[in-house]
Amino acid sequence: MQVKKLADLDVRGKKVFIRADLNVPQDDAGNITEDTRIRASIPSIQYCLDNGAAVMVTSHLGRPTEGTVGPDDTLAPVAVRLGQLLHKPVKLVSGWVDGGFTVEPGQIVLLENCRCNKGEKKDNEELARKMAALCDIYVNDAFGTAHRAEATTHGIARFAPVACAGMLMGAEIDALSKALHEPKRPLVAIVGGAKVSTKLTILKTLADKVDQLIVGGGIANTFLLAAGKRIGESLAEPEMVREAQQVMDIMKARGAEVPLPVDVVVADEVSALARANRISVDEVGPHDRILDFGPKSSARLADIIAHAGTIVWNGPVGVFEHAQFAGGTKMMASAIAHSEAFSIAGGGDTLAAIAKFHIANDVGYISTGGGAFLEFLEGKTLPAIAALEARFGG
Ligand code: ADP
Ligand code: MG
Repeated sequence: MQVKKLADLDVRGKKVFIRADLNVPQDDAGNITEDTRIRASIPSIQYCLDNGAAVMVTSHLGRPTEGTVGPDDTLAPVAVRLGQLLHKPVKLVSGWVDGGFTVEPGQIVLLENCRCNKGEKKDNEELARKMAALCDIYVNDAFGTAHRAEATTHGIARFAPVACAGMLMGAEIDALSKALHEPKRPLVAIVGGAKVSTKLTILKTLADKVDQLIVGGGIANTFLLAAGKRIGESLAEPEMVREAQQVMDIMKARGAEVPLPVDVVVADEVSALARANRISVDEVGPHDRILDFGPKSSARLADIIAHAGTIVWNGPVGVFEHAQFAGGTKMMASAIAHSEAFSIAGGGDTLAAIAKFHIANDVGYISTGGGAFLEFLEGKTLPAIAALEARFGG
């Protein structure tokens, strides 16, 4: 994967347009509740400011209707937070597509929510050309939206004089490529969570690459079905049983395996007050829901992780939001934290689990991308990265 990188370019006196991912969660009053994404976008911005570029930054926020900027759509709170982190005022510019604003070298402006512009989502060429005309260098630093071909993530890269990857995007590409293309073995993948059908394609891709594939959550339930086990009222996708069987077959043919849980934690409802029971996987009753790995399964998982060379993790293995069903994910998090292996993790709820169990500093690389991270694992070409690759030579 070859793309131009921001750190290799001379940006002095240049107009630089950075597409960042500043899509942060907010409370009802509009206060930013979690600013990881803003912090993660600072290195590219700071590099450009320190090296005398005139910096324009934009991002999407939420899911606005194109053509209007509603009260929930504005990047105004982001401009304030960005200013605090950069120690300089950050002016917010609206109606910016046709220019008509100025920004001096060493200064930064934030361009209002790019998804409010008509044509953004459909990757409209006219819009992309107008935005490209605003800059000398286009920087894509929004890995989280790299799986979408939109005007600020894809079209603009075709028309800007120079198109490159920002620091965060570059780090994402390097870390994910390292884990998937030249991993230290054994390579262990853990795929859990709730989105069963969307993740089965990932499992197939991984089945060709990994030495051990650990399934958890709703995905494990589908695999248990495939293995002929009763799962009561657990979350699963019976129509995916054949796919699950195929994944196990692919792994077996390679001398690898998909270890299934031997014990589980069940309850009759998913709630904070639910009564949890630890039982053997062969004892699941018709009204039980499997909501976590049992202690034996968790211990085996920890052992596999302890012997891994590389770990790829997406999705909790249980309903970790409730203490009764958090044991498996907690044990896994701790095993990853203590492992010598290079670990990468991604996914919205996976990041929440990492935060909850305080292991952020012990994971090799935490991807900022949810959907983009998963599509990268699937082996898909991400349109925004492809657009940068196409501009590698000029
Ligand atoms: P990510 O966002 O990391 O990709 P998902 O969105 O696929 O992960 O899944 C996360 C959710 O899966 C969590 O909210 C968790 O409660 C839920 N989950 C995990 N295990 C189970 C299970 N056995 N049954 C139902 N839900 C589960
Ligand atoms: Mg999720």
